Amino acid sequence: MITDGNCIFCKIVSGEIPSIKLFEDDRTICFMDINPANRGHALVIPREHWVDVHAIPDEAISAVVITAKRIAGALDTSLAPDGINLVQCNGAGAAQSVDHFHMHVLPRVAGDELKLNWGLVSGDSDQIKATAARIRAAL
Ligand code: 5GP
Ligand code: ZN
Repeated sequence: MITDGNCIFCKIVSGEIPSIKLFEDDRTICFMDINPANRGHALVIPREHWVDVHAIPDEAISAVVITAKRIAGALDTSLAPDGINLVQCNGAGAAQSVDHFHMHVLPRVAGDELKLNWGLVSGDSDQIKATAARIRAAL
């Protein structure tokens, strides 16, 4: 398995640093974003360290998309957002800040005015945990 000892998401995969997990299978993990742009903001990653869309093999990106679809369904059921964006950034110019492929599952609220380059604002961890429990119950 390809891993990078300096990568924060590889450390989440190995359990070296904690995360609020929603789901995991043999190829992917989904956990809550620590700086949610909106309530319920989650990230889906491959277990293996692939930097971006150019590096990730077809099988791995397919697994990420399948998990993202499942998470989007649970978000829709549990939180009833006005909409959901699946967003994925490649390269600093596209605002990729973590060099381990990831897909944002981003619930939208009408009028939230979110731009693609949303700022990173720390979330309240108790609130993120409570939201995660609601989404998990809908999986
Ligand atoms: P990017 O800007 O690369 O598309 O998104 C990276 C995302 O990872 C950001 O939304 C950021 O909040 C999230 N993130 C960065 N470090 C951590 C972390 O240690 N834990 C969690 N749960 N999310 C993180
Ligand atoms: Zn990694």
